[in-house]
Amino acid sequence: MKYALITGGSRGIGRAVAIRLAKDGFSVIVNYVSNDQAAKETKRLVEEGGGICELMKFDIADGQAVEKALRQWEDEHPNEFISVLVNNAGTRRDNLMMMMSEDDWRSVIDTPLNGFFFITKRLIKPMLSHREGRVVNMASLSGLKGVPGQTNYSAAKAAIIGATKALAQEVAKRKVTVNAVAPGFIATDMTKDLDEETLKKMIPAARFGTPDEVAAAVSFLASPESSYITGQVIQVNGGLYS
Ligand code: NAP
Repeated sequence: MKYALITGGSRGIGRAVAIRLAKDGFSVIVNYVSNDQAAKETKRLVEEGGGICELMKFDIADGQAVEKALRQWEDEHPNEFISVLVNNAGTRRDNLMMMMSEDDWRSVIDTPLNGFFFITKRLIKPMLSHREGRVVNMASLSGLKGVPGQTNYSAAKAAIIGATKALAQEVAKRKVTVNAVAPGFIATDMTKDLDEETLKKMIPAARFGTPDEVAAAVSFLASPESSYITGQVIQVNGGLYS
């Protein structure tokens, strides 16, 4: 059995990734931070499709919580390792820079970036020793082009892209790839407060994307077929960025 851990897998893009990777044959481990009901629904949907799903509740920004959860998993699975890691969990707290609080700055940067560090550092070692692994980081259009009102979020996502490219070069010889997916506007809880009617006029495809469309890119990057692709950013944005 091959295992894939998806952070922020209880809702939105992470849920779609969990369902898709389970269909691809992975036993999926779904991390989330608070929404037990949504996490149970992801588990139900994976199992409904014939897949295997474990839930793992912890805050990705809390290094001790990450260590505790992953050590426990390893104790329970002594002969297994997690070969696919999807660093997907993230949040946004938009405001103009001149009105942004320090808390909004820190939390939007700390959560995905420290989460990426704690979990990837922990899981990259077994991938390297098995000479097999896939890390897929959820970036954003915001980290590539910058979005006004999102200096915190753009900074976090740009940093994730830089870390993706650097780590890819560190681990390529051991057959571990590290890539990013950069979605544009995707219909999830994170974007439900946005004015879709107005925003979709800017998108060449004239609509928001679906979580499944992002999950398809993650599925490819997690597959054996993507073995010579590393350090790349795949944009899933309906043509919005060019
Ligand atoms: P979402 O619907 O808001 O779901 C966020 C997920 O992250 C939830 O599962 C949530 O868990 C989890 N999470 C949040 N903070 C966490 C923490 N500290 N520790 C562990 N889990 C945490 O978001 P989404 O739209 O699917 O976005 C997923 C990723 O795609 C994010 O990185 C986001 O930045 C990126 N992205 C999204 C879009 C878009 O248009 N939607 C565009 C570009 C990039 P709970 O359910 O427990 O709260």
